Amino acid sequence: MEIKRRETRKIFVGNVPVGGDAPVSVQTMTKTFTHHKKKTLEQIKKCHSAGCDIIRVAVPDEKSVRSFEWIKKNSPIPVVADIHFNYKLAIDSISAGADCVRINPGNIGGERAVEMIVKRAEEAGIPLRIGVNAGSLERDVLEKFGSPSPEALSFSAEKWCRFLEEKLGFKNFKVSIKSTDPMTTVRANILFSSRTDAPLHIGITESGTSFSGGIRSAVGLTILLSSGIGDTIRVSLPTHPVFEVLAGIHILNSLGLRGFEGVKVIACPVCGRCQVNVQKIADEIERRTIFIKKPITVAVMGCVVNGPGEARFADIGVVGGKNSFLLYIQGKKVKKVEPRDLLKTLMKVMEEEFLKK
Ligand code: SF4
Repeated sequence: MEIKRRETRKIFVGNVPVGGDAPVSVQTMTKTFTHHKKKTLEQIKKCHSAGCDIIRVAVPDEKSVRSFEWIKKNSPIPVVADIHFNYKLAIDSISAGADCVRINPGNIGGERAVEMIVKRAEEAGIPLRIGVNAGSLERDVLEKFGSPSPEALSFSAEKWCRFLEEKLGFKNFKVSIKSTDPMTTVRANILFSSRTDAPLHIGITESGTSFSGGIRSAVGLTILLSSGIGDTIRVSLPTHPVFEVLAGIHILNSLGLRGFEGVKVIACPVCGRCQVNVQKIADEIERRTIFIKKPITVAVMGCVVNGPGEARFADIGVVGGKNSFLLYIQGKKVKKVEPRDLLKTLMKVMEEEFLKK
């Protein structure tokens, strides 16, 4: 099934196109204090290596603005400044070189504050992201609709689009509409996108733990993306941002919207026949191969009942036995490996058989 993307207008966040015919990009947000500039840049570089297209950094105070300038200069990918409450920080972040500024009109100080930010963004030639969140809807919108319903969220986003486009003549922005509830987010985005051509950043906000949040994000994003909605995505998880990036890439890859140029680890679900700790081994392989940029499939199977059959379809297969593992390379049984040598052997095989060739 080919997904037909909704047509939106194209903007550029740094050199990354968002909307129009551009591929769906993957974003995340740094989780370090921004004034710890070296640690923040280190996290950005790791996210970049994992395949992140755009990074967002919180700018909560003036100290962070000063770090932001240095971070932006050294970042390998475009940097978005994330601003709440204080419009001056948005203006200062633009002067510090931000590639885009994310504001939430519901808490930035009303139309006058938005107007001043727009003016400065226009001078600098950068886009804005207008973020509408269920937790910070304007009071008048909440009173009108009674709750942060999909209609209320879409109404608020449409209202700000009209203000920017019709009153200020500014169209260089994307929109995000987020709720912690996937179906509220889905309905609000469907409603909004049927009424405008603004490019959309989609995601489920504060989605939960890495387990439940990953599922909620995948459900919400899959419904929207398969309906052609969404120009850039973020999976929000309380983990290192690299895992948000990988989750986003895997969602896009599963929908045929992005190639995956990394190591794909397949693991059997484990049953009463299992001879080894499949989860531990699979997790460790995934952790050690996160930054490898070659499409290699590794299968970890718990026993010899179904294991060999499945392992044959992977580039590298390991099948658990009583006291050893059977190693397969491209469908052929190669040798037995002692449990204590497994990871070392696997990484060696990967290097010699797949990365050097
Ligand atoms: Fe069970 Fe073996 Fe299949 Fe794993 S590979 S699910 S242990 S039968």
